[in-house]
Amino acid sequence: MCSIEKERKEPLLEVKNLKKHFKINSKEILKAVDDVSFEIYKGETLGIVGESGCGKTTCGRTCVKLYDKTDGTVLFKGQDVHSFNKSEYRKFTKETQMIFQDPYSSLDSRLIVNDIIAEGMKVHGICNSKEERSEKIREILSQVGLNKEHASRYAYEFSGGQRQRIGIARALAVNPEFMVCDEPISALDVSVQAQIVNLLMRLQEERGLTYLFIAHDLSMVKHISDRIGVMYLGNLVELTTSSELYQSPSHPYTKALLSAIPVPDPDYQMERQRIVLQGDIPSPINPPMGCKFAQRCKYALPKCREATPKLKKISEGHFVACYLYD
Ligand code: SF4
Repeated sequence: MCSIEKERKEPLLEVKNLKKHFKINSKEILKAVDDVSFEIYKGETLGIVGESGCGKTTCGRTCVKLYDKTDGTVLFKGQDVHSFNKSEYRKFTKETQMIFQDPYSSLDSRLIVNDIIAEGMKVHGICNSKEERSEKIREILSQVGLNKEHASRYAYEFSGGQRQRIGIARALAVNPEFMVCDEPISALDVSVQAQIVNLLMRLQEERGLTYLFIAHDLSMVKHISDRIGVMYLGNLVELTTSSELYQSPSHPYTKALLSAIPVPDPDYQMERQRIVLQGDIPSPINPPMGCKFAQRCKYALPKCREATPKLKKISEGHFVACYLYD
């Protein structure tokens, strides 16, 4: 966990009732993000987890205006991201960066590493000369665990973990304050995943970065996140601190996700019960009325199928969207 003192009074990013819907045809609408609210404080890591198709990536992309919103608000340092004028947007693209899931497709294989990293620096006028820029790039490469010789090699010459380090170097090169890390470890070997998570945590410590860290399972996200939000079919169903989520998961979906993580103690692993969810995640196209988890929830009540439960506070800093906690 990052030890940097959190300036918790000041949210860097505020997401209020955000919706991102995609029109498929005249009758069908894909509700990828459907009324999601959260805040991210300076120096904090907020993890967002959920199965694929739950809307976490769309949410991250809408937060940094890679997608236009359908409804709601995203405020960055108090300013509405989706109402920026040209110069405000340009500044925002320097202050916020993304690290992508696939380190193979997110880097241009026709360019050498130096040029991949230099692109954003040129756009934002960082460094006055080519030499100064190359020197800065070598410095950043060493910060992410690569060396200066790597600057003149092509991205395809590197392993997945090294490519992800190049992607991180590219993001860092413009000195961002906020980074959306979109499943940055899910395409990597398990042995490399921990190295990348540790690197991101060290960089956060050194640079005071703020992260939105998106992941599809809860195992690795625990180590990097201060708080975690669990998404299911476009909704945030639970939001609390990382430790509280692991010790007292409350939403039936969170409990099922956690029960799927193996624990190192073999006796405890034998005793604990895995919660196997019935059925598949429903389609986000014209999703069912009410709680979207109702079809798979063994506690479902008649009212669960009538209206979507809102995220409510059940204890200090712990929010759950479930009628069991009314
Ligand atoms: Fe289950 Fe109802 Fe809670 Fe949804 S609101 S998780 S269906 S108990």
